[in-house]
Amino acid sequence: MNATPHPALAATDPELAALVGAEERLQAETLRLIPSENYVSQAVLEASGTVLQNKYSEGYPGRRYYEGQQNIDQIETLAIERAKGLFGVDHANVQPYSGSPANLAIYLAFAEPGDTVMGMALPMGGHLTHGWGVSATGKWFRGVQYGVRKDNGLIDFDQVRELALKERPKVIFCGGTALPRTIDFAAFGEIARESGAVLVADVAHIAGLIAGGAHPSPVPHVDVISTTTHKTLRGPRGAMLMSREEHAKALDKAVFPGLQGGPHNQTTAAIAVALREAAQPSFRDYAQAVVANAKALAEALLARGFDLVSGGTDNHLILMDLTPKEVPGKVAAKALDRAGIVVNYNTVPYDPRKPFDPSGVRIGTPSLTSRGLGTEHMAQVADWIDRGVAAAGAGDEDALLTIRAEVADLMAAFPAPGLPV
Ligand SMILES: *Cc1c(COP(=O)(O)O)cnc(C)c1O
Repeated sequence: MNATPHPALAATDPELAALVGAEERLQAETLRLIPSENYVSQAVLEASGTVLQNKYSEGYPGRRYYEGQQNIDQIETLAIERAKGLFGVDHANVQPYSGSPANLAIYLAFAEPGDTVMGMALPMGGHLTHGWGVSATGKWFRGVQYGVRKDNGLIDFDQVRELALKERPKVIFCGGTALPRTIDFAAFGEIARESGAVLVADVAHIAGLIAGGAHPSPVPHVDVISTTTHKTLRGPRGAMLMSREEHAKALDKAVFPGLQGGPHNQTTAAIAVALREAAQPSFRDYAQAVVANAKALAEALLARGFDLVSGGTDNHLILMDLTPKEVPGKVAAKALDRAGIVVNYNTVPYDPRKPFDPSGVRIGTPSLTSRGLGTEHMAQVADWIDRGVAAAGAGDEDALLTIRAEVADLMAAFPAPGLPV
């Protein structure tokens, strides 16, 4: 890698600059398979590092509590209009600081403390903020949780309906963090209407696939869409809430002044850039390629004897149960990390092991697809994972280092967006 691209940082704080440089090398040389991560474009990076950082803008465009918003109002309006256009919604709020506060704003808009809310259980693939016990959302609200079927790993809609009609939650969340299959928003929509709940699609993981036409849109079926902007959507770390006009006021009031102060204008700008990028025809190709790569990788893993939850994938994500390989998820994840393959250990549905030491590993294809790897590379990726997991089981550190060198060699041919070459 060449000279540091951050000269002022290097001069002011060499220690920090060195760490940033090391992270750049790590992101360049490794095969990043964490499904919630990605590489943003140079344009998104630049927008998020601007003097917009210096400005306070509490309120919304045209209705601010601080003067000097001539440019900021236009920037936020651009982001809002682009979100509305891309996802086909009446209303968008681009101010939530991240996915978790975005979800908290939904509770503030539609429920009172102590009310019943419903979401997918965390160990089944849901998110903490869907009413799980350790989260504020599970402490301040009464969370009831659905899961997936033991026999096929798919959402159990009989259970969802039964639970919704019995518990009458104010809010139902669908979507999650470890769901390898298409979410049936229509089925959730029917149940929400039957039970009188506000239905939220939390599409944090799949927003980019929806924007690119590689996953069905929740728009006709749900009341509110919550999404992060930094996963498959390839924007900065941030979030958006979207809805029909009827919920616009409640959501806006909940985000500000209900939950947050000033929006992060540099992030708003970078979101606007990412939304513009996601509206290009090339982004449709990207979204399709993410899914094609995941399907090819799943096939290649199945061929090597891996057990995949639900038997495969429809989206960007694969959840592997390593029980048949006799290697715990955490041991495998840490060994793969030493082999230059970055994954995360994860619970699998009905996991007999503890959450901090579970049976599974979660992988995904958004990042490698952003670097231009295609289906022709997925057998190689599966082979590395197979050898890495075997080496983890055998305690063979040399084998891991061999893989690491092979990975770095291939990745050098696929420069990552936003990173110095
Ligand atoms: C990532 C994620 C979130 C939380 O986003 P943060 O930005 O990490 O707070 C919420 N919901 C789902 C489904 C997610 O995948």
